[in-house]
Amino acid sequence: MPEQSSVFVPLVVPPADAEGRTHRYVHVVGASVWVDDQPADRSWGQHFLGLLDGQAMWGVDVPFGVDPADGAAADLFSYYGHTSENDWLVAGRAVQIVEWARTHRFCGRCGTETELAPGERAMRCPKCRLLAFPRLAPAMITLVTRGEGAEQEALLAQGVNFRGSMYSCLAGFVEPGESLEGAVGREVHEEVGIDVDNVRYWGSQPWPFPHSLMLGFHAKHAGGEIVCDPTEILDANWYRRDALPNIPPGISIARKLIDAWLRDEV
Ligand SMILES: [Zn+2]
Repeated sequence: MPEQSSVFVPLVVPPADAEGRTHRYVHVVGASVWVDDQPADRSWGQHFLGLLDGQAMWGVDVPFGVDPADGAAADLFSYYGHTSENDWLVAGRAVQIVEWARTHRFCGRCGTETELAPGERAMRCPKCRLLAFPRLAPAMITLVTRGEGAEQEALLAQGVNFRGSMYSCLAGFVEPGESLEGAVGREVHEEVGIDVDNVRYWGSQPWPFPHSLMLGFHAKHAGGEIVCDPTEILDANWYRRDALPNIPPGISIARKLIDAWLRDEV
């Protein structure tokens, strides 16, 4: 995974010495972010995120229809590339936590208004005591290869929802009751009809669009010919390293999986 030059320590409760630290406020405007050294309005909901290079970082829940940034807030896709990897991860954490709080204002069991549980990242129902924790949807993403050496090829596919003519790894959400390895085998088979083995975990990436955790795998082709599921995949092919199609930008773990393969690190 990439080297990170700054240090982020995720926390739920501000540390005892928070008073003496610099504070930074990630205002979440819709799903976009705008960072300032003061909250634009102290009555808005604030969620402590942790320490970034020793600075106390907060997520600010900007009410719907209000824009303290006056149009300057950036969506997370544009924010990437204009900031460090850790700044971006903190912004993603702010968006995920604020969005979770916005969508868990009432108990899912009895409908009572929830409150923040002290000391925990949880919304609690004061009536029936149900706790709701931030939502994370695990999704696996896989680069399948076949062959060896210079002849080795990777399977890249164009999803029906991709922007432009990009080809990428296969991805899908993990189903309840399923292992990650099981999800890899099932998704690959469903999307392109082939079987895989030698499924190896490679690394992960928070993907706050809106609340995924991407788990990256490499796998080997074990049999079968490509047959695309037209509801999910427009086109899929085997590609050699020296003849790649248009691949995803650096923001995504898909690109990191492909780059690792190009460097022969799989
Ligand atoms: Zn309840």
